[in-house]
Amino acid sequence: MASLLQTLRLADAEKSAIGHFNVSDLVTLYGIVEAARQQQVPVIVGASEAERGFMGVPQLVAVIESLRAREGPPIFLNADHTHSLAGAVEAAKAGFDWVVCDFSSLPFEQNVRQTREAVRVLKGLRPDILVEGEIGDIGSGSQIHDAPPNLKRSLTTADEAHQFVEETGIDTLAPAVGTMHGVLRSMLNTDAKKHLDVDRIRAIKERTGMFMTLHGASGTDDDDLRAAITAGITVIHINTEVRLAWRRSIEESLASRKDDIAPYTLLAPAIEAVKRTVTARLALFSRRGTPSRQEVQPTIRA
Ligand SMILES: [Zn+2]
Repeated sequence: MASLLQTLRLADAEKSAIGHFNVSDLVTLYGIVEAARQQQVPVIVGASEAERGFMGVPQLVAVIESLRAREGPPIFLNADHTHSLAGAVEAAKAGFDWVVCDFSSLPFEQNVRQTREAVRVLKGLRPDILVEGEIGDIGSGSQIHDAPPNLKRSLTTADEAHQFVEETGIDTLAPAVGTMHGVLRSMLNTDAKKHLDVDRIRAIKERTGMFMTLHGASGTDDDDLRAAITAGITVIHINTEVRLAWRRSIEESLASRKDDIAPYTLLAPAIEAVKRTVTARLALFSRRGTPSRQEVQPTIRA
């Protein structure tokens, strides 16, 4: 299997992005993996601290490893939004490929100190692991929010991104460039979309040369996402859209099959619903339609 670093380099070079989707059960996980397999593109499965707490850290690693044993493009596992060194170490020891060390709610200098310490400890344990650091404010909770958070004050600047990267030694950077976690209630059944500060993305990329991750991208305008990828975004996080697809499908199943009590018949449509959502996003991010494995693999291995 191509390494995560090789996969990021390839995406960066061809100006595509890798989709990152969060899981907290097998229904979402199977929908995501089936979509990536069908499109023949790599995918990153993410689990935040709460999602890991629900599934179990070693259990999630074991399921991912069993899915990897089947033929297909790479599946990577990311410990999303980890707020403590202990949580990061647990994920690294269990076999996660990547850890998002999120100390972004702390003042800048403290964020630098704690992220740098996490990089030192994690690389000491697992030299191959990738570490992401986060600066700025992208809100919290992949949920439905009634009111927008005031994020304008803390969009990431190219200078602070450069300083953060230099002082921490991170592998990937999560800047605040216009998205937020979750979606607004007003976006649910309307055409309202999130928009991105593409000039800011380009400026940060030019100043740092880093791989950049876009968090909280659910409900973002498609054209903005295409422009962001061209400007330097390499990984895109989608969680709320997947959760919405999951919930709506389960509500429909429960409403239409009143006497059914078998989880596998009630939940099977949710796998398909998640798969449709993920497929649409992967097609947009990869910009390649459906390349064959032969087209993708030699470049990854080069
Ligand atoms: Zn996030």
